[in-house]
Order: sequence, then C-alpha cells, then structure tokens
Amino acid sequence: MENVIIIGTGCAGWTAAIYVARANLKPLVLAGDQIGGQLTTTTEVENFPGFPEGIMGPELMMKMQQQAERFGTRMEYVAATKVEKLADDTFVVTAGEKSYEARSIIIATGASPRHLGLPNEKELIGHGLTSCATCDGAFYPDVPVAVIGGGDSACEEAVFLSKFASKVYIIHRRDELRASKIMADRVLAHEKIEPIWDSAVSEYVTDDKGEMTQVRLQNRKSNEESLVDVKCVFVAIGHIPNTQFLVDLVNLDPNGYLLREKGTQTSLEGVFAAGDVADHDYRQAITAAGLGCAAALEAERYLSEKFGD
Ligand code: NAP
Repeated sequence: MENVIIIGTGCAGWTAAIYVARANLKPLVLAGDQIGGQLTTTTEVENFPGFPEGIMGPELMMKMQQQAERFGTRMEYVAATKVEKLADDTFVVTAGEKSYEARSIIIATGASPRHLGLPNEKELIGHGLTSCATCDGAFYPDVPVAVIGGGDSACEEAVFLSKFASKVYIIHRRDELRASKIMADRVLAHEKIEPIWDSAVSEYVTDDKGEMTQVRLQNRKSNEESLVDVKCVFVAIGHIPNTQFLVDLVNLDPNGYLLREKGTQTSLEGVFAAGDVADHDYRQAITAAGLGCAAALEAERYLSEKFGD
C-alpha cells in the first residue's frame, strides 16, 4: 500500500513528489502518456523564477524529476485509467493491466491541446497538422505555415516557427491578441509573421496524398471565404483538462476541470488536485508548481490525521 500516488509528471506532479518525498512518504508517481507534461513541448521558459537567463522547458522538467528522485520518489511508466475508493477509505488506481493501492491520491494530469473539431483532423495529425511547434517546426523549412489562436501559446509558437518557415500566418478569430503585451508586441513587430484577423478556419485542404496544402478561412465580420497556402498548421487554441478517467470519482466544473473544495482537496476526502487539471485561470508553470506543493502538504496532513502516520 502506497502512502501517496501522484498521477502526472508536469510541474505540479514533480513538485508534489519533491515535497512528499522529503516528508519521507516515498511517493509513487504514475508518468502518464507525456512525461514532463506540457513544458516538454515548449522552448525557452523565461518566467520561471530562479532562471534569469531562461531555461528550456524539457531541461526544467528533467531537473524537477531528478530533484524528486533524489529524495526517494519512484516512477512507473503507466497512464492511469481509473481511480476507485474502497470501503476502508483507501484507493485503487488502475493503469491498463496494472493496479496500485494507496491511502491518498494527488491528481496532476494537466491538460491536452484542444483542436477545432474539423472532419479530417485526426488523419492530418503528422501530415501537416500539429499542436507542437517545438516537436514539428523544423520539418517545415522555407515554406509558409500557420498558427491558429491568439494567446501566449500561439504567439510563442509563431515566433519559434519563424526560425524555419518562410512565412508564419497567425490566424485569430478576433482582431486583437489575447497574449501578454510583451508576446503580442514581439509577434506584431516580426517581419515574418502576418496576422490574419477575424478569421475562422473552416477547412483543412489536402493534396491527393493527404498532406496539408491550404486552409479555407471564413471572415467572421464579412463572411468572405479565402484560401491560404500553408504546409503545416499549428493549433494553439487552449487545452482540455485530462479528467476523463475521473468523471465518476470527483466533482468537475462544466468544462471538465477538477473542482477544489478546500485548498487542493477535491470533493472526495483523500484525493487532492494540483496544476492545470484544476486551474483554468493562471495555468502557469509556477502556479502549477505552487499547487503541487500545497497538495503535497495537505496530503501529508491528511495521512497523519486519518492514518496516524
Ligand atoms: P489561451 O490563453 O486560452 O488562448 C487560446 C486562444 O485560442 C485565444 O486567443 C482564443 O481566442 C483562441 N481560441 C479558443 N478556442 C478557439 C476556437 N474554437 N477557434 C479559434 N480560436 C480559438 O491559451 P494559451 O495560449 O494556450 O495559454 C494558456 C495559458 O498559458 C495562459 O494563461 C497563458 O498566459 C499561459 N502561457 C504562458 C506562456 C508564457 O508566459 N511564456 C506561454 C504559453 C502559455 P479568444 O482570444 O477569442 O478567446
């Protein structure tokens, strides 16, 4: 029986693991499908305190993992598919064929990139449609590409892609970027980046091999249609919380985010939530890490009060 199982390996999960491990509670971390979470798909992180020159996202996550492991955290390369509470107030976490027992759970499963919901999108992933510029940007040198979205992610992707692509369109449904001023200014001043305002992508157009060739746009003010040549589309329109496996266990808000009822405690005693899976307001690496710390401290307190550890 584990004291604490931490589900997820982003900033929240690893920070929780550092604190739980330093309390000598030997946490077990279930890695999930993307070890290191969203920061492993970004480039430079400029706003994580303590790194005045910035740090690459994957490197930051590797350092967090090393720090957690240094104090006795163990990791299993599985993704949780179910969590159940038993009559004796312990939990069983199922991950495919495997199952794990624990006295408390910290959910830090983060959120996954949202897509538009167009018909041929699944087939196009890897053939000119992606949500990770860091992963796929270098495959599109000297060709035009597009980013969809107007937030910090879209701006960051656009600037990164400008290193490779001949041109980067940033297609946004409004006429003003949502991104922070520093990012928006950088994008709008960039010679290779061209915003296309008030526009929604209504179709991904492909060639006979199924590769992306164009996007069909609809202007939301004039209703006019247009076609833009692009070899790849990078979708950056926000995220969906990874809570699908928890719907029968704890209360979620209408958008699927875990509800924190008291501190990081969910609607179920012994289950704590941290990071983007339970935070649609801030969604920063540092706030996720902060919530991971809080969840660990609250899990510790819960174990001590409930089980006398
Ligand atoms: P976001 O801020 O929620 O922005 C999503 C963008 O996608 C918005 O511009 C939104 O348009 C657009 N959008 C949403 N649904 C759409 C749809 N169905 N069709 C077309 N467009 C759609 O998401 P994010 O950029 O991923 O950022 C998430 C959080 O992480 C934010 O708090 C951000 O500040 C933070 N972040 C920070 C950094 C950094 O500081 N370096 C980097 C990346 C992200 P509207 O504007 O019209 O709503």
